[in-house]
Amino acid sequence: MDEGVEVYGELRHDGLMVVTCEHATRRVPPPLVATAADERLLDAHWGWDPGAEWVARRLVDLTASVGIFSRFSRLVCDPNRDPSDPTWILTQAEGHCLSFNQELDEGERERRRSTYHDPYHQRIDEMLSARLRLSGDVLLLSVHSFTPVLGDEVRWMELGVIFDAHEAVAARFAKRLKAEGFVVALNEPYSGYKNVMYSANRHGNEHRVLYLELEIRQDLLGSEEAAKAVAESVYRALKGLGVRKQRRARRAI
Ligand SMILES: [Zn+2]
Repeated sequence: MDEGVEVYGELRHDGLMVVTCEHATRRVPPPLVATAADERLLDAHWGWDPGAEWVARRLVDLTASVGIFSRFSRLVCDPNRDPSDPTWILTQAEGHCLSFNQELDEGERERRRSTYHDPYHQRIDEMLSARLRLSGDVLLLSVHSFTPVLGDEVRWMELGVIFDAHEAVAARFAKRLKAEGFVVALNEPYSGYKNVMYSANRHGNEHRVLYLELEIRQDLLGSEEAAKAVAESVYRALKGLGVRKQRRARRAI
């Protein structure tokens, strides 16, 4: 583990996935300091995706895959946004100005990029490259969680399968998740076409692998035990999904 990223699990030729978790933690690494007033936002969905890392770890274990987890809060800088995106570093949320994000100069922005953002994405590149040198099918899955209520919006879906390119596999995955008893929606609570899946899109396209983002409503992830149960259902839905690398499909003909 280094300052910005943890790699979890071992690369194996039969590991179905490279699992990423961009919002795994609310950690604000030193020398940054969060004030008591900042903590309220760090604890909430603004700071991290509660429960997502529990699901991601369990999925890695069940599928013999490898996981890449961020080790910094999205409020330090968001690894699921391009650094040129104005929301890459939020200066305020819900009317509160984040003390550690005020009047940042270019040097500090560059430090956050080189210390946190870039190493996180380099590890995903390394792991995907290494995984693709082995045999077997590969899916890049980015695991997130979402708040049940955002402003006036009550989110009715329990799981969201977010896609921008691989609609057919997303639909099959959603159907199999429904069969596990979940209320599932495609491209909800937000659409993959609206620039919300930067990490999966970037690495999936660069390495030409199928990629999806899975969003899980946070009230389903109230404890590690509950999160593991969700992961086990997701695992059953993934089995037999029919993920194929093009290279492998051609060889089979
Ligand atoms: Zn997230």
